Amino acid sequence: MTEPTAIRSPSPTSAPGVPAGAAGADAATEAALRAAEPCLWLNPLLSPRMPASVPAGTRHISLADVEAAQARFDRFAPLLVRLFPELAASQGAIDSALIATPTMQRMLEVDASTGRLWIKADHSLPIAGSIKARGGIHEVLEFAEKVARDAGLLAEGDDYSRLAEPDARALFGRYQVAVGSTGNLGLSIGVMASALGFRAAVHMSADAKEWKKTRLRARGVEVVEHAGDYQQAVAAGRAQAQQDPYCHFVDDERSLSLMLGYSAAALGLDAQLREQGLRPDATRPLFVYLPCGVGGAPAGIAFGLKQLYGPHVHCFFAEPTQSPCFLVQMLGAEISGTGGNPSVYDYGLTNRTEADGLAVPRASELAAGAMRELLSGVYTVADDTLFRHLFQLQAAEGLQIEPSAAAGFSGPAMLTGTDAGRAYLERHGLTDSMPQAVHLVWTTGGLFVPESEYRNFLDRGAALAAR
Ligand SMILES: *Cc1c(COP(=O)(O)O)cnc(C)c1O
Repeated sequence: MTEPTAIRSPSPTSAPGVPAGAAGADAATEAALRAAEPCLWLNPLLSPRMPASVPAGTRHISLADVEAAQARFDRFAPLLVRLFPELAASQGAIDSALIATPTMQRMLEVDASTGRLWIKADHSLPIAGSIKARGGIHEVLEFAEKVARDAGLLAEGDDYSRLAEPDARALFGRYQVAVGSTGNLGLSIGVMASALGFRAAVHMSADAKEWKKTRLRARGVEVVEHAGDYQQAVAAGRAQAQQDPYCHFVDDERSLSLMLGYSAAALGLDAQLREQGLRPDATRPLFVYLPCGVGGAPAGIAFGLKQLYGPHVHCFFAEPTQSPCFLVQMLGAEISGTGGNPSVYDYGLTNRTEADGLAVPRASELAAGAMRELLSGVYTVADDTLFRHLFQLQAAEGLQIEPSAAAGFSGPAMLTGTDAGRAYLERHGLTDSMPQAVHLVWTTGGLFVPESEYRNFLDRGAALAAR
């Protein structure tokens, strides 16, 4: 494995040909980004304190918003059990296991003296089979709640399972829920919307996998195919929805409801960490590695965790080397203060990656704004590494994930095995507490990947691991 390029920024030098937003990025940043080489970038704006609230579009969000999202999930739990028998065991809760993965840790050659490797197993989340079960379902539930309340069908304190009755379903049937997606968000929104009785439409980009389209169509969801990339699919869906007052468009790039749905994961994780005696504090740092597409999911979760643990949690986003949209966004914001909304194409990158859940050319400005002072850093991963880790996780722990979900596994070595990573640990006074550290890799999808597709992933990973 080649040593990842270490990056520090900002630097006063400006390189010719860099987009305006990144005018001050140092030469190493630009070189690694443009060459699509794995690198670690550390956020110089990371705040030592946790602000009580952070900007999120038109307003500020705080812990109360995280709790409100969780309360909404709780209100809907009786209805969800009725609609999805697979939720009976969890009484309607949509959450995943926290799993210790010592064998995988050995395969990754991350020494136990630098902490323990755990997985937050969102690859097995029910209903959607990915992290999108959190944000996507939350937004559909929030919309359903509003429609039902406005129609006088729900009063304060009502049992929400009444929304499975014919009158509520007839009401929902008048509305359409639409979304633009590379696949997983469409699966989550489409399945939940149609289960409630809404009409559902999913605008898909050219890189969306065929099996995801097939699965949606089998659920009665309308799949609209677009020739362009993810962002073009979103724009087309947004434009179409604006024509129709009975259409609710789930806007992956701008939705606060999505982000807050993701943020509620922090509360569930907190209970699990307490159970294991692993709640982070001054002597037990928590490092979280979150695969990042547009940024809503990882930003929501990072926001929730920072609210709970402040300086004791360190959140890193992971992106494919060809699609580091959040990294270019953070670089732009850091240099100019505003930075605009640069794309990975501006850096000569292709946005082509097998990690289809992360194949996003431009970050969500909502997510980037919220992360400005909370995010520890961003690192990039080559596709080959994703496949190797996907294979190793199957071999070590028998867990099935998709390529996007493997992006987190490069994190611990990026932090503990590179100069930039070690500098971060030193700067934050963490060196002595590393033996107690928890490295939490968020595995974000995989449950519903068809057998034949997963075989291909494994074969590719096995060949790389054998080298
Ligand atoms: C969507 C997705 C992500 C990232 O979520 P964003 O909100 O797009 O950043 C990560 N992993 C998988 C598998 C996904 O589907």
